[in-house]
Order: sequence, then C-alpha cells, then structure tokens
Amino acid sequence: MKIAIVPGDGIGKEVIPAALSVLDAFGLDIEKIPLEIGYGKWKRTGSALTDDDINLIKDCDCVLFGAITTPPDPNYRSVLVRLRKELDLYANIRPFSPLKTVKLPCAKKFDFVIVRENTEGMYSGVEELHEDAAYTTRVLTRKGCERIAERACALAKPRKKNITVVHKANVLKSDSFFRDVCTGVAKRNGISYNEMLVDAMAYDLILRPEKYDVIVTTNLFGDILSDEAAAIAGGLGLCPSANVGDRYALFEPIHGSAPDIAGKGIANPIAAILSVRMMLEWMGEMESAKSISRAVDNVLQQGIVTPDMGGSYSTVDVSDAIAKMVNR
Ligand code: ATP
Repeated sequence: MKIAIVPGDGIGKEVIPAALSVLDAFGLDIEKIPLEIGYGKWKRTGSALTDDDINLIKDCDCVLFGAITTPPDPNYRSVLVRLRKELDLYANIRPFSPLKTVKLPCAKKFDFVIVRENTEGMYSGVEELHEDAAYTTRVLTRKGCERIAERACALAKPRKKNITVVHKANVLKSDSFFRDVCTGVAKRNGISYNEMLVDAMAYDLILRPEKYDVIVTTNLFGDILSDEAAAIAGGLGLCPSANVGDRYALFEPIHGSAPDIAGKGIANPIAAILSVRMMLEWMGEMESAKSISRAVDNVLQQGIVTPDMGGSYSTVDVSDAIAKMVNR
C-alpha cells in the first residue's frame, strides 16, 4: 500500500505527524510518500498544487490529508476541490457519533453518517464573474446522483436499511432531479427512504439527531450540515472524513488549518487519528481500525485531552498515549 502524505498548512503540520505515529504503531507494510501542497508551497513557488503533485498522488493508493489555508489570490482554485475532481473522489463520507466522555451541547445519543456528493453541485467550477453580476452553475448529473445514492445505499445495508435524502426540491429543479434519482436508487436496492428539506434538516439535526442514520445530500448542503453535525458531536477536533471514489481515496479531518492555534502544539489530533482509522477500514485492516477506536475511548476516559476539550495536554501527549494503547 502506497500512501501520499499531505500535512498541508497550519495545524495540518501537527495533527498529521501525530496521526502517523499511531499508524506506525501497527508496523504495517506501508510506503509513505510525503508531499508539500498548500499555502506554504504557494508562497514559495506561486503554485499550491502542481500537475506533478497530482501525478505523484495518482501513483499512490490513497492520500492522508491535513488541511490547507486558502492563499490570498483571487485566481486561486481550491486544492481540495481539484483533488476531489482529479481523483474522482465522488463520495464524502462523514460519520458522527459522540465519543465517550465528550461533553455534548445536546445530551442525546446518536449515530449517523452524512454522505455528501463531492464533485458536482455548487462546486461544479462552472462560474462567471462580471462587473455587475456573478454566476455559479449548480450541476447535477444522473451519473453523479446515481453513484452517490448507490454509496449511501451500500452504507445503509449493514445499518438500518434507510436513507434520508436531503434537498430543496420545493425551490430548485436540480434538487427535484437529485431527489428523484436518489429515491429511485433506494427502491432498486430495497432500501427505505425519507426526505427532508435542507432548512428543516438543519433544525432537526440539532433537536433530534438520534432520528437519522444515513443522510445523503448534495455538495454544498453536505458541507454545511457536516460542520453543524461536528458541533453536536463535540467539536471539529474530533470528526474524521473519507473522500472515496472507485479507484482512489483521501482521508482528512473535517477541520481546517486553524491558524488561530497553529504552531502552539495544542491542536486536537483525534480527528486526524480517526481519519487514519477510516483509512485502515478502507484498506481492509479492520482489527487495527477497531483498536484505534478502543484506544481513543481509553485515552478520553483517562482525561488525556487537549485544551479544546478542557484539558491541558498537547497534541503529541494525546497521540503518544493513543499510539501506546493500540494493538492491546
Ligand atoms: P481554515 O481557513 O483553514 O478553514 P478556520 O480557522 O477558518 O481555518 P477551522 O480550522 O475549521 O477553520 O477552525 C475553526 C475553529 O475550530 C478554530 O477556532 C480552530 O481553532 C478550532 N479547531 C479546528 N480544528 C481544531 C483542532 N483539531 N483542535 C482544536 N481546535 C480546533
């Protein structure tokens, strides 16, 4: 297995080495290819991501990604959006369930996954900027909607065999198309479904998160709902994600580069460590993946946590404690 390692900027440079120390504890046969991508590279070379970087990444099986600070360049094209398109990582999978001992803003148990379409919708890249108007074309194709719905149904099968299709079909024609394709795919797969308008969903997710299991939605709605979900799950520092296609995959914490705390050694590494867990699951290393979950729970129970969780431990303290506990 060959993994491209992209720490990126800000706390990406701290949480990715921390997560790698946990991965290394398993002694798996993995070749790591370190790559510099992001704002730091843009400042040094004028380019945040080059064609050579893309080719090197395409030569790997998957990517472990930290976070990237957006360069102050009006012509800058998002590195992540480009990577998702180039590697055809069409499914963004974000699981949310509260970790042990984590204080939650709403005292509820829940366990749901947001499956966000990752290559189309409002992030189509079809845009026009004029003097007095600006246009972004929201593109939804049958192929794009079918494959994200198939992913959601595949995830739903071993769970509750139900998906919630989130849209704004009462206003947007593109969303009635999305809804119709998704519900068709669900019927074909023998998966039950319900629908929610995205505004009602934003409200209900806070009040009744326990109602949901697999949520499938379009790119921008998924982006927004998953940050909201991170808030009810205890914070951005805890939530991992996988960007998956048919050939490649990219694993990253949901959080960004957090310039406000970068360089202080206090970033919570758990989101990045749980992203490694998702990567191990994708590789089929199920026992190692489970052992990360157990180790994270143990470390939380021992109160070895960073300041965002009310503790006074450093990024490295937390990752060292988890690395020592895996495989036990
Ligand atoms: P970017 O521009 O890269 O998206 P941002 O600061 O706008 O950065 P996030 O990086 O997602 O967005 O951070 C939002 C807030 O959450 C910040 O106050 C940050 O310090 C905090 N935060 C994010 N990730 C972590 C983490 N791993 N540990 C502790 N705090 C975090």
